Order: sequence, then structure tokens, then C-alpha cells
Amino acid sequence: MQSNTQKSIKTTAEASASSVSGKIYLVGFGPGSREHMTQRALDVINKADVVIGYSTYIRLVKDLLDDKQVIRKGMTEEIDRCIEAYDQAKQGKVVALVSSGDIGIYGMAGPTYEVLLQSGWTPDSSIQVEVVPGTTALSACAALVGAPLTHDFCSISLSDLLTPWPVIARRIESAAKGDFVIALYNPKSGRRTGQIVEAQKILLRYRSAQTPVAIVKSAYRHKQNIQYTTLDKMSECDIGMLSTVLIGNSSTFMQEQLMITPRGYANKYKDLTGEIHEGEKAGRSLNMGLASWYNCVIEYARQHPEHSFAEIADYFNTTEASVFSAWQQESGPVNGMAVRQLTDITEFEHILNNIEENQPFILKISYRGVELKARLNKSSCVITPDVIALNVNNLDVEIERNRVEHVWEMVSDSKTQWVFSDFEGNRLMSIEVHRQ
Ligand code: SAH
Repeated sequence: MQSNTQKSIKTTAEASASSVSGKIYLVGFGPGSREHMTQRALDVINKADVVIGYSTYIRLVKDLLDDKQVIRKGMTEEIDRCIEAYDQAKQGKVVALVSSGDIGIYGMAGPTYEVLLQSGWTPDSSIQVEVVPGTTALSACAALVGAPLTHDFCSISLSDLLTPWPVIARRIESAAKGDFVIALYNPKSGRRTGQIVEAQKILLRYRSAQTPVAIVKSAYRHKQNIQYTTLDKMSECDIGMLSTVLIGNSSTFMQEQLMITPRGYANKYKDLTGEIHEGEKAGRSLNMGLASWYNCVIEYARQHPEHSFAEIADYFNTTEASVFSAWQQESGPVNGMAVRQLTDITEFEHILNNIEENQPFILKISYRGVELKARLNKSSCVITPDVIALNVNNLDVEIERNRVEHVWEMVSDSKTQWVFSDFEGNRLMSIEVHRQ
């Protein structure tokens, strides 16, 4: 209940955040139904003097708000909601800023903290802030259609109101490449109708047209509606502001109107309750876990000694750095070559210093199919705090030091080679020194 005296405590301008002890609860109240709201969310809404929220959200919790001061804001007034929450807390009030699902997921928790921090608030100031987590749309929607998120998944919002489309497109593409199950938030609105069509086009480049898709509208609300479809038909379905789209990965299947993504038990067990496959162990990584993947790369390298590191990387659709990592696990040389990762460029600098003055090196750089090979010696290679600078017959080659993520050393009977790779695991250049 809001007494007049409370209401008239200092105006915003007069209030000093350090002298009062208001509180801001950032509350996610779940998908919409009371049963799916947490006890903590109920408790803090009960405690609040003021409840602030987007008008649709306020409607969803209106029976909890009897005697409270309620501040409704429009959809685009998000920052206003944060400022209002802070202003009210500065007046010593207990404020609940409410939103559906989890308030930290595409919600008001982030902007509120940003507004507070920008105003000089700190966590130990007298205004306390608590984020109350809630069931987010993706888990609510997943529960209604079966178990589509049982393996690695990600969420992507198709809203380009605050995120540039190329960023969204790149994330869709990465998720598609990574075979993640994808939950699309904000898939479509009255004005934003093209994004879902574009998303579908990108996904179809990587994923089968038959990939199961579930579109859940208004989960756990009065107008709840579920549609099952496939990726090629997704954008023709009825999708709106209150829909979440769940797109399966390459092993997701539909059976009996249930969308299931297997957890992978079938990789280890002959049937779900039965015996373990030969060679596998309960509680241990799979045969195709990391260690075995390394073994697999090395086995292939042994069988194809004529293949370069780059060719092996291509074969496994991975980077050279992953091949080097596999090689490094071996205790002895493979195909006569031992690989070791140097700690950093400084270690390479030491090695360089210990090489004889007139010992010739070969520098190799390839860029978009052009191979540069040059002979150089110690004095033409200078390592500064910023760059590795090489001078070959008046041609200057400079590699920025912060582009180099790893330096690998490969030693064989005839030569030692150092490969510099970038953070994506791709080769920037290599330097070889041959034994005389
Ligand atoms: N904080 C919210 C997400 C807000 S973004 C949460 O954690 O769930 C708004 C988007 O969430 C909508 O466009 C829709 O994609 C999804 N969404 C929110 N509530 C939903 C519901 N009850 N059913 C289906 N999707 C929902």
C-alpha cells in the first residue's frame, strides 16, 4: 500500500541515492501462467511498493497488484522503465521491474544495470538490486513440444531493431554450421516479416529441408498454439511476436507429435537401457571424444605420410592448429616429425638468437593461392614488441605480433620449421632452417 507520505518523500532531483535504501527487483515471471512463476517472483512482487512493466506484462500479473502503485510503459520505452525504477528506488521504495520469461534473457536486466552504472551506482550503494530468474520462452516452449533442447542449442533473436542484420545473419550461419538446435526469439512482427525468410534461406544452406521445426505461440497463455513443420516450410507458417521457433539439429526427430533431440546415449549403449558398445566405457569420453579424435588424426597422418599438415586439416575439415595439437600429444615423432607448441613469440626470439649468424632460413607465406618463398638470415629477421619484421632483398614483410596466436615448432632429421598460426588456427607464415 502506498501512503501519501511515502509518495511525497523527496523528488527525484532531491533524492540522494546514498542516503536512502530503496530496492530494485528485476523479476522474470516466466511464460505467463501462475504455476510457472517462481515462488521468489511471487514473493518479491508481493513485497513491492511499485511495479513497473510493459503494459502486456502488467496485464499478465494484474491479480497480484491490487493495492500497488503500477507504472505501465509502452514497448519502446525500455530505458524509461529503467530510469523510472531507479528514480522510485531513490525515493526509498521497493520496486519490482517485471518482464516475461527470464528478465536477463532479451530482457530489462541488462539495460537497468547499464543505466544504474552510468548514473554512478555501485553494487555496494544503498540501493540494492536483485535479479529474480524465471523460465525463459525457450524452455517453456521446448517443454510443450517434447525434448528438443537435450543437446547443444543456442538462441538467436531475429529482432534487428537494436542489432545490425549482418550480425544476426552471421550468428545464424555459425549456429547452422555448428549443428546447434536453434531457438529463434522475436522471429516476426507486423513490420519485420522478411527476417524469418532470410534466416530460413541461410539455414537451408547447411541443414536438410526435412529438419523438424516447432513454432510455439503464447506458451502457457490462453491462446497457446503449437505448429509442427519442417525447415523448408517454416516461413509459410503462422508466426508472430509471441512465437518462439525451435529448429532441430541434424539428429532431431519427430515421433508421436514429439520433437526429440537425442542426447547421444545411442552412441554408447546398444539400446537405451542395454549393453555398452564394444570399446566404450560408462562415465568415460566416447571413442570419438577428444583423445580418440586426436588418435584418429594421427592414424590418418601415418597412413598418408605424403600429405601436408594443410591437406590433413582439409581432409578433417579442421584447422592446421588442430592437427598440430593432435601431433603434439604423441610422445615421439610421427612420419619422422615431432611437433611442439612454443610458449610464445619470445621463446621463438630466443631460438632465433641461438641460430648461427650466416645460417640461411626459408620464409614461406601463402596468401590466396600465391606462395612467397624467400631466403633470409638472422639479421634480416627483427622481432619488435609490435611486429615480426622480415626483410628479403628489399621486400619488407611484417606480421603484427598480436595476430599470432600460436607458434609451433616441427623438428625432423633434415630441418626445423616454425609455423605461426592466427587465433582461428590458420597459418600466417612459416620459417624453416635446414640442417647442413
Ligand atoms: N525475457 C523473455 C524474452 C523476451 S523477447 C524470456 O525470457 O522469455 C520476446 C520474445 O520471447 C517473443 O518474441 C517470443 O519469441 C518469446 N516469447 C516470450 N514469451 C513467450 C511465450 N509465452 N510463448 C512463446 N514465445 C514467447
